[in-house]
Amino acid sequence: MGRPAPRRMLVAALSIAAALAAPGVAGAQNFAPGADTIGDPYFPTAGNGGYDVAHYDLTLDYSPRRERLEGVAAITATATQDLSRFSLDYSGPKVAGVSVDGAPAAHSHANGKLTVTPPAGIGAGAQFATVVDYAGKVRPTKGRLRAGWFPTRDGAFVAGEPRGAPTWFPCNDHPTDKATFGFHITVPAGRKAIANGVLVSQSRAAGRTTFVWREDDPMAPYLATATNGRFRLSESTVAGLPSYVAVDPREARASRRGLRKLPAILEHFQSLFGEYPFDSTGAIVDHAPFVGYALETQNIPVYDRAPDEVIIAHETAHQWFGDSVSVARWSDIWLNEGFATWAEWNWIERTGGPTTARALRDLLKIRAGDRRFWRPAPGDPGPKHMFDGTVYVRGAMTLEALRQQLGADVFIAILRRWVAEHRYGTATTEDFIALAESESGRELDEFFRVWLFDPAKPKSW
Ligand SMILES: [Zn+2]
Repeated sequence: MGRPAPRRMLVAALSIAAALAAPGVAGAQNFAPGADTIGDPYFPTAGNGGYDVAHYDLTLDYSPRRERLEGVAAITATATQDLSRFSLDYSGPKVAGVSVDGAPAAHSHANGKLTVTPPAGIGAGAQFATVVDYAGKVRPTKGRLRAGWFPTRDGAFVAGEPRGAPTWFPCNDHPTDKATFGFHITVPAGRKAIANGVLVSQSRAAGRTTFVWREDDPMAPYLATATNGRFRLSESTVAGLPSYVAVDPREARASRRGLRKLPAILEHFQSLFGEYPFDSTGAIVDHAPFVGYALETQNIPVYDRAPDEVIIAHETAHQWFGDSVSVARWSDIWLNEGFATWAEWNWIERTGGPTTARALRDLLKIRAGDRRFWRPAPGDPGPKHMFDGTVYVRGAMTLEALRQQLGADVFIAILRRWVAEHRYGTATTEDFIALAESESGRELDEFFRVWLFDPAKPKSW
């Protein structure tokens, strides 16, 4: 789905090296290593080139007591060039073995990359299956943007944005390479494992329970979850969809009020943004306050504590803005957070609170003299600031200002076209500006320049 242009110069340079280094491979002059990056400006090491993943089948066995994860990741991909070797993003437990199409493959693991050299080159256009076996202690990423597999007392809280997915499975870790997923997760009896999509089965053997989940819609790796622990899991039907609500008993009381609003939130956003893009809905409410955030994991957002209805509205809106339509590069993160925040404001208005217009007016007034409030500009906040308040609040203010400039009907038509035209794909800020201009028939470059890229309050507002 809409992968960025291959880095032809790099690939060409590498292909010469590969031709010299790989004698004995038939047609070796055409086989080259896949690029070890997808070229994202914020995360220059994220993602890989030379192939496109179609499906991940993840078999996971987790022991919370030992914080030990045993995994088998079967990855089906199509080569987009003649491949002599390729890499996967991976920062998880120790790799025990790798095979490609059933044959053992040479591999090395360093600096977050698992490099795989199959016994023979893979021709462009060929589909191939890579199986990676791994086992050991599992940890989230370190540093400012902690993400991935967070061990908890009774299981794990699993949320991958932005670079946490490789802590628990090898993948092509960039939103531009979406794939379908299957999950077989085994946990101690009495615990539950919750992943994306629909629950296919659960079965018990030898004191352990295996949960099988299946996500048939394209999903970016960072939106996958396999959260597990002591949960009450209830299934119901909401807006004609299966709904899975998993609640840690310690958060049951505090989350009841918010969770009751999920059906109304979903129905309201469907009427506003168009058809809900996925096969199920729900929520995972864990007791993991040390994590410090919730994430819009696809279909079923994961909350680190009891959410209120505004946070539920935010994560539910992300199913359209972020999950179905994902960022083509991380610098466009306001397309996720600004939109979900505007949707929060819209839900507050819908339920009798202040209007979105009032929210913008108040912020413009109260924050007029607060220079720090306006920085960094949300359109390109920098990797260290991609989840700063401006990305959310100034992002939402940008949308509300646009709504007031163009009128509510044109604005909603833009949002609906946005989710329809980029469904299950990725898009950029430039794509959004072009769509807003085409739908409104107006020139909006200056509008978006001051709102998204000026590190100061827009002067005429
Ligand atoms: Zn968000």
